[in-house]
Amino acid sequence: MGVDEKRKALLKKLPSVDHILINANKDRRFDETPKTVVVAAIRSAVEDLRKIILDSNQDIQGKNLLDSLKDKKIMENVKQRVDAAMALNLLPVVNGTGVVVHTNLGRSLVADVALEHLSEISQHYSNLEFDIGTGKRGSRYSCVEDILCEISGAQSAMVVNNNAAAVLLCLDTIAKDREVVVSRGELVEIGGSFRIPDVMAKSGGILKEVGATNRTHLHDYESAIENSTGLLLKVHTSNYSVVGFTAQVLLKELVELGERYHLPVMEDLGSGTFIDFSKYGMIKEPTVQESIATGVDVVTFSGDKLLGGPQAGIILGKKSILDKIKKNPLTRALRIDKMTLAALEITMRLYRDEKKAVKSIPTLCMLTTPFNIIEKRAQKLKRSLKKLDNPSLNVELLNLSSRAGGGSLPLMDLPSKCIGIKVAGISANQIERSMRNNSPPVIGRIEEDIFIMDLRTIPDDQLSVIKDALQAILERGL
Ligand SMILES: *Cc1c(COP(=O)(O)O)cnc(C)c1O
Repeated sequence: MGVDEKRKALLKKLPSVDHILINANKDRRFDETPKTVVVAAIRSAVEDLRKIILDSNQDIQGKNLLDSLKDKKIMENVKQRVDAAMALNLLPVVNGTGVVVHTNLGRSLVADVALEHLSEISQHYSNLEFDIGTGKRGSRYSCVEDILCEISGAQSAMVVNNNAAAVLLCLDTIAKDREVVVSRGELVEIGGSFRIPDVMAKSGGILKEVGATNRTHLHDYESAIENSTGLLLKVHTSNYSVVGFTAQVLLKELVELGERYHLPVMEDLGSGTFIDFSKYGMIKEPTVQESIATGVDVVTFSGDKLLGGPQAGIILGKKSILDKIKKNPLTRALRIDKMTLAALEITMRLYRDEKKAVKSIPTLCMLTTPFNIIEKRAQKLKRSLKKLDNPSLNVELLNLSSRAGGGSLPLMDLPSKCIGIKVAGISANQIERSMRNNSPPVIGRIEEDIFIMDLRTIPDDQLSVIKDALQAILERGL
């Protein structure tokens, strides 16, 4: 038989969608699956088989192909497709990267108390925009305003969807069609296309760059001030650091300059923090309280970076300016939702007691976990992996560093204990890929051709997931 005839014969054997559907209807495994999903899976299975037959050439594997056209094999094929279609796309993963505020893995984890409160608020009606005292319409932001002012010392507060929205809203309110003076050393780009010059353009503010990349002086700002100037802006260089021959103007000096020229001063803190990390042996980051104490007009920062709350953009500052910001029609487009507000309020309240905050806010807890605790966890994982008792597996403890992430503390290495995993005959890249495709996915990093799991970001109750994932790799091989 020639190839064409072989193909024709195989195509004839390819069952119809209807035939497979009849079988599927009898298959109890699909009892709970929506019919549309089953039909789509059958269609795609048939379509793919047809393509395989048509693409097959001289060395057409008649027997294998013939086998895959049998009812039982096709049903397995359909089942796999149905399972894939029914699986949720947004999944929990194990973060073994050691990057605490990992932007691609969901940044900060919500604290337990926040989770309880947000589920309570989302499953009931609430006073979201209702003033219980007067029975009239209330403000969506009032539930977090007092606690934010209490912790930071600010006169007024407001929250939006994220910090990018906060910056946009502030610039639009304060500096539309006016010049905004910013240092060339602070024209930040954050991952995910947030760039100060672009946000400025969208807000209608006119960027006025001053100074040089490495050095900007107060007189640079001063000589840029004209009648058209509307704002002096300071941006925290979150994800990089200018080192060497450098000069920056302090926020305090900028505030004094603003006062002399009757110009408002704003700071985009990026990853704002209420606690002084130097107390925990880390690099000093300016705190929100310190910024507010300079007398700055407006400060903005993220809720889900070092603060460890839900995704939000927090705006703090002088009442006169915040009142204007709250009236900007853009606020409606940038507004925060009620579940986020619920989680934010309760997380911010934890900051009334710093010890409690550090213990119960996962981001703070992971950043401040003592080395010996991480080491114990690493040893525990190593012992459990040893129990796999596989001669191909090589597991070692390594002293490496974790990162804060989220564009915060870019220069800081957090000493951590890691596990290095090698499997004879399987490359680090292949291990990384298999772990990533595990259910649930285990995300690690590769250093010097070794697959690394950093125990700072892996809680005790996820250690068994790593063991099981590795066991599967060892059993299956590659
Ligand atoms: C992260 C960051 C932003 C953006 O904040 P999101 O909460 O991600 O929108 C803006 N400015 C700076 C300096 C940042 O670090």
